[in-house]
Amino acid sequence: MKITLPDDRTVSIGKLLCIGRNYADHAAEMEREVPDAPMVFLKPSTAVIRTGDTVRLPPQSQDVHHEVEMVAVIGRKGRNIPQAKALDHVAGYAVGLDMTARDLQNTAKEQRHPWSVAKGFDTFAPLGPIVAASSIDTPQALTLQLRVNDEIRQEASTEHMIFSVAELVQYCSQIFTLEPGDLLYTGTPSGVGPVEEGDVLEASASGCDPLRVRVQR
Ligand code: MN
Repeated sequence: MKITLPDDRTVSIGKLLCIGRNYADHAAEMEREVPDAPMVFLKPSTAVIRTGDTVRLPPQSQDVHHEVEMVAVIGRKGRNIPQAKALDHVAGYAVGLDMTARDLQNTAKEQRHPWSVAKGFDTFAPLGPIVAASSIDTPQALTLQLRVNDEIRQEASTEHMIFSVAELVQYCSQIFTLEPGDLLYTGTPSGVGPVEEGDVLEASASGCDPLRVRVQR
């Protein structure tokens, strides 16, 4: 799938770098420790859908959860990017959802297996409209919100992220070359929970246009 960056370049979606337990309140609700370094996992680009599309509940899971997250869209290639230059590599921001098959993830945790299946199904990475980074004063003061069928389920400020966008770009770029079209899902605050067939998910981050998807089997 291709996305159009705020400077009108059209690029293929690259890797999805996703951060686990980046809010203390979410780590607590999962009964997990806050990590001392960013916890990174990958999703395939085939998981991305856009606003108006449909999240498909896979037959392999009976417990799919929503996780609302701010997404930083990479616009400039780089490796070993210093923190002071990190935000120069971010072309824009969006609100996104890190859909998670929680039952499969819990089994994977017990078996010490990776999370690729629990996190990587088609349609499991809804991505909202991308707003130019230049129009956002700081990515660390946005209000994230998720409504399910018009009821608020998650709401938090990105100021509570344990590792900032700049820190995450620096950290990830020591491992992966970052490329235009890569997406950094920066972690979810507390309030995650199951979705059901027929639900309408509306996610927003202040300054970004909202994301709206429907849930179906
Ligand atoms: Mn997540």
